[in-house]
Amino acid sequence: MAAVDFSAASARFPYVLTLPQLRTEAILETRLRDLDPHALVRGAKVDSLHDDGGRVRLHGTAGPAGQEFETSARITVAADGARSPLRRLLGTPCRTRDLPDTYLMGDFADTTGDGPVGVLYLESGGIVESFPLPGGIRRWVAHTDTLLSGATAEDLSALVFERTGVRPDPRSNTMLSAFSVRTGLARDLVRGRTVLIGDAAHEVSPIGGQGMNLGWLDAAALAPIIGASLDGHDVGAALAAFGRDRRRAAGVASLQAQLNMALGRPLPPRLLAVRNAGLSGLFRVPAVGHLVARRFTMQ
Ligand SMILES: Cc1cc2nc3c(=O)[nH]c(=O)nc-3n(C[C@H](O)[C@H](O)[C@H](O)COP(=O)(O)OP(=O)(O)OC[C@H]3O[C@@H](n4cnc5c(N)ncnc54)[C@H](O)[C@@H]3O)c2cc1C
Repeated sequence: MAAVDFSAASARFPYVLTLPQLRTEAILETRLRDLDPHALVRGAKVDSLHDDGGRVRLHGTAGPAGQEFETSARITVAADGARSPLRRLLGTPCRTRDLPDTYLMGDFADTTGDGPVGVLYLESGGIVESFPLPGGIRRWVAHTDTLLSGATAEDLSALVFERTGVRPDPRSNTMLSAFSVRTGLARDLVRGRTVLIGDAAHEVSPIGGQGMNLGWLDAAALAPIIGASLDGHDVGAALAAFGRDRRRAAGVASLQAQLNMALGRPLPPRLLAVRNAGLSGLFRVPAVGHLVARRFTMQ
C-alpha cells in the first residue's frame, strides 16, 4: 500500500534499527560496569523509602539470604516497572486502562527476502507486523480476537500465512508470546526527591515499539538534572519541568500507540479496501510520509 522512507527522520541513521531488548540491556550493562564496577547490584529489593527533605533513605533485602540493607541518596530514581512497588510506597496514583486488543508474537528465521524492511500488513482479519532482527531473524506480530495463551509456533505460522501468504517455519521459532495491552500514567513523576521513570511512570501499548525508548528518553532528560544536584544546585524547578515534559511525551506516545492499534483492528473487507486506498493516497504526499517517519522515530 505504501512505503515509508526513514531518511527524513535522521540524516545520520536514515533507516530502521532494531535490536532485541536483552541485547540493548547487555550493552548498557557492560558500559555501566566499565564506568563503575560497583554501580549495579543484582538481586536487591527495596521495600521502604523515606524522604527526610535532604535525602531519600531506602531499606531493602539483598542476596539469597535476604540480608537487610539501608542506603540513602540525594535523588532516588524508581525504574521498577509497570507495577512499581515504589510508586505504591510513594502513594502516587496511576491511571491504568486495559485495552481490548490482543496479539500473538514470535521470532522465526527470516525467509521473506524483505531485507532490512519492516512490513505492516493491514488485513481484514487484523494487522500482521513483521520486523527484521539481527542474525537473520524476523519478528511476527499478529492481532488476535482473544488472548491465545496456549498458542504454538504452528498456530502463529498458520495465522500469518492465512493473512499474508508468508509462512514462517515453525521449526525455526525461538520466541513466542501472547499478550494483551494496558496503558498507565502516574499522576506525578516527581514526589519530593524521588523520580519515577520508565514503565513505573508510564506504560504504553507495545504496538509502535516506543515503551522502552520512552524510558531511555526519561533517563537522558534526568541525567543532567542529577548531575546539577550533585554539583550542589537547587534542581526543584528542573525536576518539576522534567515531570511535566515527560508526562506530555508519554501522552503523545500513548496516543500514537493507540492510533497504531486502531489501524490494526479487523475490518470488513470492503471497508478495509476503502480505508487502505485513502491511506495509500495520503502516504503518497511526501510531507505525510516524513511526518510519519519522524513520529515513528519519536521525534
Ligand atoms: C510484548 C512487548 C513488546 C515490547 N516491545 C517494545 C519495543 O519494540 N520497543 C520498545 O521501546 N519497548 C517495547 N516494549 C516495552 C518495554 O519492554 C518496556 O517499556 C520496558 O521493559 C520498561 O522498562 P523498565 O526498566 O521501566 O521496567 P522493567 O523492564 O519492568 O524493569 C523493572 C525492574 O525493576 C525491578 N524491581 C521491581 N520492584 C523492585 C523493588 N522493589 N526493588 C528493586 N527492584 C525492583 C524488576 O525486577 C525489574 O528488573 C514491549 C513490551 C512488551 C510487553
